[in-house]
Amino acid sequence: MINQTLVLIKPDGLKKSLTGNILTRLSETKLEIVASKILKVTKELAEKHYAHLKNEPFFGELINYIMGDIHERRKVMAMVYWGEDAISKVRSLAGATNPEEANPVSIRGQYGRITTKGVYENVLHASANEKEAEQEIKMWFSPNEVIVDIYPSREIIKNNVKEKVWG
Ligand code: UDP
Ligand code: MG
Repeated sequence: MINQTLVLIKPDGLKKSLTGNILTRLSETKLEIVASKILKVTKELAEKHYAHLKNEPFFGELINYIMGDIHERRKVMAMVYWGEDAISKVRSLAGATNPEEANPVSIRGQYGRITTKGVYENVLHASANEKEAEQEIKMWFSPNEVIVDIYPSREIIKNNVKEKVWG
């Protein structure tokens, strides 16, 4: 089944210069990248993305982590991978959430670590299922940033919207 998944290279992946390594591993899947960008993660986006973990004791640290505060790398690389079984292919290449339990040749197994504060720094995020993928892709990207029509969209005319253009 053709589907799409959100992949984030987290701040530890960027700080450790793993972008190329992670993209190379992901290219094994032969999936297509249909959206990509580097962005600064706002607290609002971080808390929305990890809303399902808000009652966990590590939630505050997790928000600091994904915002890049821990690594002094206030950016994340976000991508949408699309193709046959994209969600399960990327998840299995990513490996288990806990990098110590992840298959050692998975991306998290190879590059992840557990901090002394107990946060799993596992270098990338990948959507777990179709529902999560849809929520997450719509949270991180607008329809005009994705080059295939993965979900229904509509056009609107916005008045009085402040926008930055080249000076
Ligand atoms: N996490 C953690 N400790 C835990 C569970 C999760 O530090 O016990 C972090 C880890 O960085 C993980 C993220 O929270 O990637 C999101 O957790 P989730 O359970 O959604 O795992 P994932 O979908 O990323 O495998
Ligand atoms: Mg998850």
